[in-house]
Amino acid sequence: MEVEKTIDAIRSRVRDARRAGRTIGLVPTMGALHTGHYSLIRTAREGCDYLVVSIFVNPTQFGPGEDYANYPRSMDEDLAGCENCGVDAVFAPGVEDMYPEKPLTTVSVSRLTETLCGSRRPGHFDGVCTVVAKLFNIVQPDRAWFGTKDYQQLVVVRRMSEDLNFPVEVLSCPTVREQDGLAVSSRNAYLTSDERRQAPALYAALQDARRIVEQKHPSAEEVIDVLRRRISADAPDGKLDYAQVVDPHTLKDVEETDRPVVIAAALYLGKARLIDNVRVD
Ligand code: AMP
Repeated sequence: MEVEKTIDAIRSRVRDARRAGRTIGLVPTMGALHTGHYSLIRTAREGCDYLVVSIFVNPTQFGPGEDYANYPRSMDEDLAGCENCGVDAVFAPGVEDMYPEKPLTTVSVSRLTETLCGSRRPGHFDGVCTVVAKLFNIVQPDRAWFGTKDYQQLVVVRRMSEDLNFPVEVLSCPTVREQDGLAVSSRNAYLTSDERRQAPALYAALQDARRIVEQKHPSAEEVIDVLRRRISADAPDGKLDYAQVVDPHTLKDVEETDRPVVIAAALYLGKARLIDNVRVD
């Protein structure tokens, strides 16, 4: 496995692979790799010839006061894990490689980013879209994989790629969970043991919500009420940031649940902000 830290070096590796007739795959990550990332990487391994995993904690997608400085970093373990999964190249640039100057160009997707996490984290998706666009231009993959856990990110990146005609197929992977249902996340490391005991409430509440949608197509208001009740019962220290029932494509709030919906929520628990979602078809 090659580990490349500069844009020129990874471009040159990818160029060689492409000349040899190999298809290129990309899994963008911020490192601190866990079983969720590895499931994406294993799926990607099957879906391309030359697999690049990028590891870059992108400063521009963190807002002021968010956890950029404290975001977990574990490069040595990450590299060993990638090697173990048969990754061909890891692209791990420094901030000075990706942003040698303060960029004057931002990739911004409208509408889809004005709801859910986008409405709570101003500028977050501009940071995500800009860095993903840069990675798509640097690596020029045929396919790139993103997790359904970050559902809004998946929809936004797919739209960005379509709107800007990137020749990249954006593919998704299901959410990997701990045994008690908590979605695996690098940020789970922020939870104290007491908070960790309460954290499964988020997915439990989403499942309650899913169940009543399947049973009786209630109004979105009723769905959110069910979800809130489960969270206050099972995660008394949690503070719900948002809970919404949205259209899976437009991400607009729906009032009724007699059609496919995504139920998405974010929960503050101590220092961690947990997000999760379920889709009901
Ligand atoms: P991150 O390093 O948090 O930016 O995540 C990199 C990629 O891994 C994103 O596409 C995430 O959606 C995906 N991912 C993160 N957690 C999970 C999980 N528990 N299951 C599946 N994919 C995940």
